[in-house]
Amino acid sequence: MSLGYAEKLSFIEDVGQVGMTEFFDSAHVLQDKIEQLAKLIEKSRHLVVFTGAGISTSCGIPDFRGPKGIWTLQREGQPLPEASLPFHRAMPSMTHMALVGLEKAGILKFVISQNVDGLHLRSGIPREKLAELHGNSFMETCPSCGAEYYRDFELETIGLKETSRRCSDEKCGAKLRDTVLDWEDALPPKEMNLAEKHCRMGDLVLCLGTSLQITPACNLPLKSLRGGGKIVIVNLQKTPKDKKASLVIHGFVDKVIAGVMELLNMKIPPYIRIDLFQIILSQSLSSDKKFVNWTIRIASVHGLSAPLPFIKSVEVKLDFCTSLFMRTVLTETFEIFLNLSLVMDAVALTLGLKFLLIFRIQSKVLNLTRMPHWERCAMRQLKIRNAGRSAVVERKTVLVPKSEITVHAMLRMLKHLSTN
Ligand SMILES: [Zn+2]
Repeated sequence: MSLGYAEKLSFIEDVGQVGMTEFFDSAHVLQDKIEQLAKLIEKSRHLVVFTGAGISTSCGIPDFRGPKGIWTLQREGQPLPEASLPFHRAMPSMTHMALVGLEKAGILKFVISQNVDGLHLRSGIPREKLAELHGNSFMETCPSCGAEYYRDFELETIGLKETSRRCSDEKCGAKLRDTVLDWEDALPPKEMNLAEKHCRMGDLVLCLGTSLQITPACNLPLKSLRGGGKIVIVNLQKTPKDKKASLVIHGFVDKVIAGVMELLNMKIPPYIRIDLFQIILSQSLSSDKKFVNWTIRIASVHGLSAPLPFIKSVEVKLDFCTSLFMRTVLTETFEIFLNLSLVMDAVALTLGLKFLLIFRIQSKVLNLTRMPHWERCAMRQLKIRNAGRSAVVERKTVLVPKSEITVHAMLRMLKHLSTN
């Protein structure tokens, strides 16, 4: 989780101001400011949102500079905050999902984030409308061709180091690198340029849950001022940019955003999580060529050795045979039952998959590692009303060794957020 990330960062003496006092506007003042913000959003033509750790604290991810923040406790010589959820189990907050609603409605044009928890992408903000200035714990990139690989497991390293995987483009094959910055790393130019461009175009830059202390990122919102844009800051602590803002709101970000959505008469979309995995069935002929030996593997869509953090255990049942060492005559088909125990937040789910063995080619071989593509593919096949179901999204055969690979998507509605 954020802690893993904080522990991987190198130690430096000066992390800026920490342990800053939190302020809370009175209920009356808060409501008045929420109304002002809703009006500003309604009038805006190019809304840009700039986010920091404060929007993920309600997801169980500690911030850095709050009274119980990571840097605050570290500088006081205290143990780091209790390990909460690992990043891969953290779910988007009400704010993350409200931003998805605003983006889908065409109001929110661009999101700039300093967070590395990957929750904006996971919640459904399109990659092309997002600049992640400090990287993403789930994203690795190819330094040679620039391809991005969005994984469902947290990468092992930070600091733009080589990972254990390679680019899956056959012409390239270069070693991939993680994307999360360590203190001394420069901000990624591609993300910075896009963020700057949108801040200049922005007539409203809404800063959520950031103490606006880390340069040069914290100067981005100011770029909107020259073109007549406005800045609104929602944060519990004071920030060095408060004087430049048209409106400063001291309140919990989730509460402010929920209030705004209600005034705009907009629903906050539910969080639907899609998990993908592949089932690989391989066959080989027995030495007397009378039987077929079968092997079954459950694997990540990111490769055979990639972690599969959301599956806790797999139980295999065959309808006619109690032994896992099995062989069949050549033409026989049979059913395999798989029971997958899933880990998701505090909830343990069990998913039963009935798997009938039939070999056939149904689609072209697709790139198994490009997650956003797979998510779109899964979403097409599994309609919202089917949330909680699972389905085969791709099926292919590989002739040598003779195997059939099916990619399954599990679609689960995990969080229904309402403004009430
Ligand atoms: Zn490459």
